[in-house]
Amino acid sequence: MTRKPLIAGNWKMNNTISEGVVLTQEISNRFEKEWAEDVDVCICPPFTDIKPAKTVLDTDRCKVAVGGQNVYFQPKGAYTGEISVAMLKECGCSYCIVGHSERRTLFGETNEDVNLKAKALIEGKISPIVCVGESLEVRDDGAYIDYVCRQVEAAFAGIEAADAVTCVVAYEPIWAIGTGRTATPEQAEEVCAAVRATLGRLYGADVAEKMRVLYGGSMNEGNAELLLAQPNIDGGLIGGAALKAASFIAIIEAA
Ligand code: PGA
Repeated sequence: MTRKPLIAGNWKMNNTISEGVVLTQEISNRFEKEWAEDVDVCICPPFTDIKPAKTVLDTDRCKVAVGGQNVYFQPKGAYTGEISVAMLKECGCSYCIVGHSERRTLFGETNEDVNLKAKALIEGKISPIVCVGESLEVRDDGAYIDYVCRQVEAAFAGIEAADAVTCVVAYEPIWAIGTGRTATPEQAEEVCAAVRATLGRLYGADVAEKMRVLYGGSMNEGNAELLLAQPNIDGGLIGGAALKAASFIAIIEAA
């Protein structure tokens, strides 16, 4: 079974609308139409930039999808500051990141929130990119595999196999995010394989073999090729390197 890799850019809180349009245009200009046969590509700009980016990307030759970085699980109502699945959908999103470690550590998002958000996205036919990953403390303690697999189990609680298969998991060790300290291909593969084994326990090997597991954490044009060559790494969630069109394009080419 060969899984089509996914390269997803997480812009985080970077780029105003005008800056985002420039970056999207640069990506669009360099994107080769044939790449779309071998790799799925998605950019996840801040909410305000999604629609303008989508407008730039709406050309026949540029097969780059847009996604959100977060969402709220309630459909509508008195939730000041939040964005719903339907709002993302209308902006053209086909993916949405949930449970990024910055959301978990800075904004108190729990495993339960991540699960509710994933379910709401599935309901709205947007593919969740469910982020998991351990801190340096957990890694040094040695029980990081258990820790990450428990995050996966919690995120997928109550989600049926037919829906799980539309989801993506991104393993992002916190100690590698934005630090320039990438996990080695062996370290990343070890945990991504354990994530797939967990999905296999939950849904059976067939479903687990179809699901994409990404690596994220200081992935760049220099290290992408070796990371993406690992059997259980099906793409990347890219932060810093997704903010420069040349680097992002080079990672797409590596995939
Ligand atoms: P980074 O971020 O590539 O800048 O380490 C990845 C992420 O947080 O998704």
